[in-house]
Amino acid sequence: MKLGRYAIIITYSAVRSFSTGLKMNYNASNSAKIYDLVVIGGGSGGLACAKEAAIFGKEVAVLDYVVPTLKSTSWGLGGTCVNVGCIPKKLMHHISQMRDIIENAHEAGWKQVSVKPESLQIDWPTMATRVQNYVKSLNWGHRVALRENKIEYINAKAKFKDGETIVATDIKGGEKEIKAKNFVIAVGGRPKYPDIPGAKEFGITSDDLFWLKNTPGKTLVVGGSYVALECAGFLHAFGCDTTVMVRSIALRGFDRQMAEMVTEHMEKEKKIKFIYGAEPIEVIQGDSGKYRVKWKKEKNPGEMSDLFDTVLFAIGRDPCTLELNLSAANVSVDPNTKKILSGSNSKTVDMEKTSAPNIYAIGDVLQGGVELTPVAIKAGKLLARRLFHKETAQMNYDLIATTVFTPLEYACVGMTEEEASCKLGENNVEVYHCYFKPLEIVAMGQQQSCYMKMICDINKSEKVVGLHILGLNAGEILQGFAAAIKHGITYSQICLNTIGIHPTSAEEVVKLHITKRSNIDPHLTGC
Ligand code: FAD
Ligand code: NDP
Repeated sequence: MKLGRYAIIITYSAVRSFSTGLKMNYNASNSAKIYDLVVIGGGSGGLACAKEAAIFGKEVAVLDYVVPTLKSTSWGLGGTCVNVGCIPKKLMHHISQMRDIIENAHEAGWKQVSVKPESLQIDWPTMATRVQNYVKSLNWGHRVALRENKIEYINAKAKFKDGETIVATDIKGGEKEIKAKNFVIAVGGRPKYPDIPGAKEFGITSDDLFWLKNTPGKTLVVGGSYVALECAGFLHAFGCDTTVMVRSIALRGFDRQMAEMVTEHMEKEKKIKFIYGAEPIEVIQGDSGKYRVKWKKEKNPGEMSDLFDTVLFAIGRDPCTLELNLSAANVSVDPNTKKILSGSNSKTVDMEKTSAPNIYAIGDVLQGGVELTPVAIKAGKLLARRLFHKETAQMNYDLIATTVFTPLEYACVGMTEEEASCKLGENNVEVYHCYFKPLEIVAMGQQQSCYMKMICDINKSEKVVGLHILGLNAGEILQGFAAAIKHGITYSQICLNTIGIHPTSAEEVVKLHITKRSNIDPHLTGC
């Protein structure tokens, strides 16, 4: 025990010297040291895995290194979710939603709160400082948690030398070799840029957006999925003139009816501009300092252009595998996606193993996984428990609920209607649905309706195979139902045997009774 503590003290001071950039001979003082586990990447998955392993008394180190963006934006420990993903996004989403309340407060009787919508603008520096300070507090919290769990935090970039050794390079170029019995690769991904002139020079990505000091102003958001639609939603509410450029369809892979309702609400209710079937071809900087974006439409041979203050590319992410020198450790990647392969094909995950013994991969970097924070965390924890506590539980990548935080949130779990019809046969699928109006919307004097549908497998006693909700706080509503659906709940167990909580939006789920095939009007009125 005493020896263990001694080792940690030496190591910690070594790390401090290392982070000052001195080219110290780390191996001289630690030549015999072989960690039980070295985690590469201190994001959602990596931190969870490291902490779980440390609970079992293992010697663990976490390497985390943030390569600054092309605009020199950088951040602290915690990975994408904490710094440039879920957390700043959800805070900005929530702050943007306050607009509806402020704008409509007078409708509800608040005499003094009467503002002209066009004069309602966010004070970006105040808003961003609040968000960024919270993120910094989380960075600090993660560092403290590592120290408390006696996990070494090494602020350096890792690459493999061989299957048992990595080379860690710090910000000043100081290098050291680190050996471990097990490695977990949890390096996540970074946003892509399109291969068009001016994109990298003048465009930004979500990695910059959350750290901007001033409003982005008139913004073109390129992309049509989670990141693009979420960012467009809060930017528009903050008073930025926002246009979304979608090259094909929005929210590919989601239920088509729901996806169209999401964008219809953004376009028709919120007046966010959309350009469909278009791809940018060039970004140039004009004399005014604004950026002229030229684009082409699929069905239109002509070129179009407009001026913007900011061009935000939200066109997907690339895994951070290129600089890991994975071939030196015999770790295979998918040739197309560059994500790490686990299992016999590119769609499955085999216990987060890679093609190299004792090297594992979790989170966004893993081919066949799902790019969501709770997925990375759960996979990391279960992996540590299998490695160091003789447990056998494996990560189950099926029926994972998610929410798109657009102005009207869209939460879903399980199959889309298209998928259910295709896999189960159209006649074997029952869809219960309704339009409903949350009292929060009524109180603000707004007209828009929300919508939900439950998809059931008729041949399995109407087992629920999908649930889709478009509405206020849809994610909060779905979470509990997702647990029940994961455990095979049926329509009758939810809708005939469960009593609702009145008056909530969640009770509309347990009240679902109109089937799509009945053609009965699904608009609900009254209680
Ligand atoms: P990351 O969290 O990306 O961590 C990887 C870490 O490894 C990073 O710190 C990286 O700098 C570091 N690293 C990379 N290479 C090296 C190296 N060679 N050496 C050392 N360190 C290295 N998910 C949700 O569930 N809900 C949401 O609401 C949500 N919103 C999102 C919003 C945005 C804008 C984005 C971009 C993502 C969002 N996600 C959301 C997805 C979520 O953030 C990711 O799925 C999650 O962070 C992945 O965790 P990870 O551990 O795989 O990797
Ligand atoms: P996605 O990979 O989900 O979507 C990329 C989008 O960009 C698609 O609409 C795609 O269009 C479009 N696109 C790709 N290339 C181009 C191009 N060259 N020009 C124009 N458009 C292009 O990426 P995101 O960055 O939105 O999200 C990444 C992942 O992060 C998500 O899959 C999700 O798992 C996670 N995430 C989760 C969130 C949440 O839980 N709320 C929020 C944000 C991210 P096309 O369909 O035509 O290919």
